[in-house]
Amino acid sequence: MSLTRQDRLQALGLWPTWRLRAAAPAETAAAVEAQTAEVPVPQPPIPQPSASPVAPDRPTAPLAEMGWDALNAEIRACTRCELAKSRTQAVPGVGDLRAEWLFVGEAPGANEDRQGEPFVGDAGKLLDAILAAIGLARGNNVFIANVLKSRPPGNRDPKPEEVATCLPFLERQIELIQPRLIVALGRFAAQSLLATDTPIGRLRGQVHRYRGVPLVVTYHPAYLLRNPMDKAKVWEDLVLARDTMQALKN
Ligand code: URA
Repeated sequence: MSLTRQDRLQALGLWPTWRLRAAAPAETAAAVEAQTAEVPVPQPPIPQPSASPVAPDRPTAPLAEMGWDALNAEIRACTRCELAKSRTQAVPGVGDLRAEWLFVGEAPGANEDRQGEPFVGDAGKLLDAILAAIGLARGNNVFIANVLKSRPPGNRDPKPEEVATCLPFLERQIELIQPRLIVALGRFAAQSLLATDTPIGRLRGQVHRYRGVPLVVTYHPAYLLRNPMDKAKVWEDLVLARDTMQALKN
């Protein structure tokens, strides 16, 4: 039996609350510009990869020179931090390589570690429903990646040095994709990309910039599974993201 989009949203408790509404009156790019918060080019908040406990075992070109094939190979072979020892495989990301939308999560969980694709567990199902609610689908003008490419054991929080070591991979992915809009899913993605320790509750509700690219912050789908009362806030964030994208195209 194949489920319709409404069936899936209903199953996740997101229908009809998250029914797609008519787009808000088109904002001008200038209006979007006016509500954006300029954020300086992020600097890694913590020590650089040289502090990593596991030395690279082969010569590599600078990430800045890598295309997709080299970058994905580099990520899959990466031993720059201890997570390489416990992961099943690295999880580079999935989707349209020139997507306008980039969704960034925290790190692979057990399912993602097994399957090699981001957001394939329960949080991933919810992310798919979230995408569908604003007319998007995985792989169709959407790229999904994580800050960390390897699973932290036991789903513990990423360590600052792991974020510092892994973030350059995401940065290179963003350079290659050149998304029009980034949606940061959860605290780690938002704080890592914006190089801030501002709490997520204060980062929501405005359009930030990551190296000039508009960036909207929302709660992580896994958080939303635990705190369904916040789904209205996530919906607000999605409407902001959708309207911002719309305005960029006007
Ligand atoms: N949570 C994340 O942040 N990323 C995944 O890929 C899966 C769960």
